[in-house]
Parts: sequence; C-alpha cells; structure tokens
Amino acid sequence: MASTQSKRVPCLLREFLILNFEKVEFGWIWKLNVAPKIKLFLWKACHDGLPSKDRLEKCKVFVPQQCVLCCHNSESVAHLCFACPFTLQVIECLQVSEGWPGIPDLINVSISSSFRYWFEECHLVLDKASVEKLACVWWFIWFCRNKVIFNEEGFSPRKASYLISHFFAQWVGGPIKQVEDSEGCLVRPPLQSKGVRSGPRVIWNPPPEGFCKLNFDGSKLGNGDAALGFVIRNTEGEVLLAGAKSLGQYVSIVQAEAWALHAGIKGALSLNIPKLVVEGDNLVVINSMRHIWRVPWEISNILVDVGLDAALFSECRFCHCFREANRAADFMAKKAHSYSSLLYWFPPYCLDFSLIIRKDVLGWPPD
Ligand SMILES: [Zn+2]
Repeated sequence: MASTQSKRVPCLLREFLILNFEKVEFGWIWKLNVAPKIKLFLWKACHDGLPSKDRLEKCKVFVPQQCVLCCHNSESVAHLCFACPFTLQVIECLQVSEGWPGIPDLINVSISSSFRYWFEECHLVLDKASVEKLACVWWFIWFCRNKVIFNEEGFSPRKASYLISHFFAQWVGGPIKQVEDSEGCLVRPPLQSKGVRSGPRVIWNPPPEGFCKLNFDGSKLGNGDAALGFVIRNTEGEVLLAGAKSLGQYVSIVQAEAWALHAGIKGALSLNIPKLVVEGDNLVVINSMRHIWRVPWEISNILVDVGLDAALFSECRFCHCFREANRAADFMAKKAHSYSSLLYWFPPYCLDFSLIIRKDVLGWPPD
C-alpha cells in the first residue's frame, strides 16, 4: 500500500505540472549556438524561473524591489533585458564598437510584457545570429546584476560590452586579440576609446516640413551645480529661440534634463509653433514621454506638466538622438550655469554657438 502511494506522488506531480503549466514551444532555444549556461538561462527566463526581485515577491520573499543597475522601482527579468538603461547602454556600446544588433522596435510589446513575450517577438523579427548575440548580452546582464547584489562589484557599460564581445568571440572560436605588456606577457588589450559613432542619430537633422525642432539638454558640474539648455530651430536650421537657466545644487541630472524639456516646450508654445519635434539625448526622459519606460518618481511631476503642454501642439513627436546631434542644446546647458533666471537668447550669437548651428545646418559629422 505504502509503495503504491509513493509511486503515485511523481504521477500526481507530473499531472499537476501538465495541468498548470502552459506548454511553451521553446525547443529552438537548445539549437542556438551559445554556451549551455546561456541556453539554460533563456529557458529559465521564458518559464519565469529566475529569482528576479518581482518573482521573489510573488513567492513571499520580500526584498527591496529596485533594479540595482538603474534604481528603477521594479526589477523583473524583462526590465533587466529590454528596458534597463544600463542594458541599453551596453547594447549601444556593442552596436558602435562591434556592429552588434540592437533591441528591435517591437510594436506588440509594452513595458509590462514578460521576458517570454519580448523574447518570442525578438525571435520572430531577428535572424538567429542576432538572437545569439543578444542572448549573450542578456545572460551577462543577469551576471552583472548578481555581481552587484552578491559581490558588490559593479561594471561600467563599456567594460561590460568589452567582456561580452570577448566572451562571444571565445565561444565562436574567433581570434582573441592579445598584446604584449611592458614585461613581455600576452594580455588583453586595454579598452579602446569609444569609436566615433555613425548613423542618422549622431547628426542633427532639420525637422520635417511644417515642424520646428526643440533640442534640450541638462548639465551637471563636478561641484553639483545643475543647469538646463534648449534650442528651437526651423526647417532651415535657423534658431528661433535658445534658452538657458541655472538650477542650483539640489537637482539631479535626470531632473535637469526634464526641466530642460519643460522650459523648451514652454518656449515653443510662446512662439505659437503648431507642430514640434522634440529631441534629446537622455533616454530616460525621451522614453518616459514615449510611454516606453515607467516614469521615474523624481521627474514624474515635471513630465506630467510637459505632457499637458505637449497636448497643446497640433502634433508633438519625441525622439532620441545621440549627444553628437545635441551639441547646440549642450552648449546652452553649459552656458546656463551663470544665469540664475531663465535666459531667452536671441541673435546675434557668439562665434562658438554660431559655429555649432552652422555645422548642424550642413550636417557636419561628429568631431
Ligand atoms: Zn534597471
């Protein structure tokens, strides 16, 4: 009798598993050309089996929910792999230095979608080699997150991207670059300075016909002083309004960016501009306005105001650009530290600013 009961337990467990877990078609994970530990990581992530903080909370293990890589207020595997600013910076470094793929623009997923859903969508739109590279990134991000939590050891996005590309090269059997150090030993080469970025987002482009373009930027000095700057131009690249203001010592860089956007939008409204393209190099602010990322609490009030003002235009688009395409707003933000009240700056402009504006009009590549 006892032995019959003991035999029934695994059967019941199997029935429970079959009944309660949706069958997931992820057999293709095992065919990816990545290390077995990465395949296992993907498999666990797809089956909600990684001990991320949101998962632990579901199991009644209460730990602070913040993402240790970016302080976002809820750490899930989907956040870590697809939305964390740290991850996006790592991927951007790999795109620039190694030509790796980025996270594709996926219209069917949102910030609340699960890893499994994001991953399935990526699998549909990307080729196998791109999925393999991104899988290495995701596994390494999980590794970085564990290093921060358990070893209090952090990585910069550049260092992480460097380690990932070396790990991948080693796995696919590619050459690992080594150089001789001063004592004649073969070592990995030092991190190269970041290559010059290329692509449309590194060059300022005039707005489409009928639109004006607002570029905004925040600045924070080593002594803690923060400031905002913005520039509004028309389709000819002519400056309609430039603004700058010091924000004092108690404002973070992301708040400075949000205040810069706030002041720039107000400036555009004062000019009765009907259609506006808003461009900034801060992904947190831009993606918050595009409803791609959850708005950080420290800028939520500012961005609510921005949203109300943006609704007053007949059309208002928010786009991310790299800092090379945001030079004019950066110039204004740096200039702003000497202006305690909002400065609206009209022509004639100083030579340095005029030169930046001229280079932008000509589509001058980054220095
Ligand atoms: Zn994060």
